[in-house]
Amino acid sequence: MVDLTRRFDVLVIGGGNAALCAAISARRAGASVLVLEGAPKFYRGGNTRHTRNMRCAHDAATEILTGPYTEEEFWKDLLLVTGGQTDEELARFMIHESKDILNWIVEQGVRWQPSLGGTLSLGRTNSFFLGGGRAMLNALYRTAEELGVDILYDAEVIDLVIEDGMFLSAQLKQPVGGKTEVRASTLVGAAGGFEANIEWLKQYWGEAADNFLIRGTPYNRGTILKMLLAKGVQEIGDPTQCHAVAIDARAPKFDGGIITRHDSVVFGIVVNRHAERFYDEGEDIWPKRYAIWGRLVAAQPDQIAYIIFDSTVVTSFMPTLFPPIAGATIAELAGKLELDAAALEKTITEFNAAVQPGTFDHTNLDDCATQGITPPKTHWARKIDTPPYLAYPVRPGITFTYLGTRVNREARMLMKDGKPSANMFAAGEIMAGNVLGKGYAAGIGMTIGSVFGRVAGREAAKNARN
Ligand SMILES: Cc1cc2nc3c(=O)[nH]c(=O)nc-3n(C[C@H](O)[C@H](O)[C@H](O)COP(=O)(O)OP(=O)(O)OC[C@H]3O[C@@H](n4cnc5c(N)ncnc54)[C@H](O)[C@@H]3O)c2cc1C
Repeated sequence: MVDLTRRFDVLVIGGGNAALCAAISARRAGASVLVLEGAPKFYRGGNTRHTRNMRCAHDAATEILTGPYTEEEFWKDLLLVTGGQTDEELARFMIHESKDILNWIVEQGVRWQPSLGGTLSLGRTNSFFLGGGRAMLNALYRTAEELGVDILYDAEVIDLVIEDGMFLSAQLKQPVGGKTEVRASTLVGAAGGFEANIEWLKQYWGEAADNFLIRGTPYNRGTILKMLLAKGVQEIGDPTQCHAVAIDARAPKFDGGIITRHDSVVFGIVVNRHAERFYDEGEDIWPKRYAIWGRLVAAQPDQIAYIIFDSTVVTSFMPTLFPPIAGATIAELAGKLELDAAALEKTITEFNAAVQPGTFDHTNLDDCATQGITPPKTHWARKIDTPPYLAYPVRPGITFTYLGTRVNREARMLMKDGKPSANMFAAGEIMAGNVLGKGYAAGIGMTIGSVFGRVAGREAAKNARN
């Protein structure tokens, strides 16, 4: 039974990777710590439950990583994917600290495993959690409990009392027990982004947001982020920027996880509701392009698109949760997809006529390209002519949003006037926009949470002692 009448040194709001790293780090630094996780115990851990790997710099190959990934290379990759929209000081700090995280996270009970094969080719750069994100979380929760961190589930924070940049208390709402005031000397906000708040997304995306599917937890509604920004914390990031991939249109509205993602784009073509192609499906290797397709589909009519391919490539990518929709002819397939048959036949005929001879190799930028059509398919272009014809309907799958709270190297929130908050820290998705202005490099979400979580916990504990 947690004694909520006492005043804790550190209050952590959230129950994912960032929250647990902060809680463990604060507790190891000698602080009393309370974690409030809004979700029920079974669903604890937010989006972290769905993860598989983390990107950390390292100077040499390890037991599980196939080669070095220097700080400089990590920085260059980040610069590339964000187009320079990143806080260099914070990003370089995070990258430097990520080196130590590889061991630190193991000391907290997490285990690594060799890279999984498949589509993203991350064996050198990203460390995979043995058993996936859930196993990773279970280890962190076990460690936190053993250290004496108090944890409450079904514990949604619905209000924060903040005066002049200083956190005073939080209002907690529980299904049993109702509302309670919780007091603590310091606050760590680790309550995720606002991706599960469709109404909030609509402010920037309009009605289109109704057609978005949310890949992760329904509990990341951005309530804490919104309160912090309303109560004087400086915001960072573009509210329309997020990580979004194309996922199966038949996936559930929330929490479909990784198995709903489609990695077959490069093996076929993608058409919109008018049966027209709209982007080069072979622009670059898939690990560098998978994360643009959510936004591309979001920009199409009714936010839906269809990956179309034929029977020759079915075994070239991971088996999918939802089977492809099949037709013996293009017209039959179009009928099942409720597309105009003549339009789809025209698009595929024109595409096939534009395909030039080449040697197919999906692991490299091969010479299989189209000529004379717009948009082109610049690699891996092969004719779609062997029935049955197949299709996956896809919609934008939102992973997480980038709008967040501004922080400094101590993970301390900055107020609108530029001054550091007296006692408020942030880690994870809620401050991801400091590092990710746009774009994404696979595995960096967990780096942001682990590095800044660890720092936030340590600094919050230090702050509480003073
Ligand atoms: C399908 C999928 C796969 C992914 N795969 C990877 C991967 O392999 N590698 C990678 O680096 N990233 C991956 N990501 C991104 C990654 O999940 C996030 O970047 C990371 O988990 C964020 O951690 P976090 O602790 O900030 O947020 P979360 O883990 O989402 O935790 C937020 C927590 O806050 C709680 N919360 C929210 N509001 C309140 C409130 N008002 N009161 C109390 N609690 C509240 C939620 O219940 C939740 O527990 C993936 C995401 C998804 C959806």
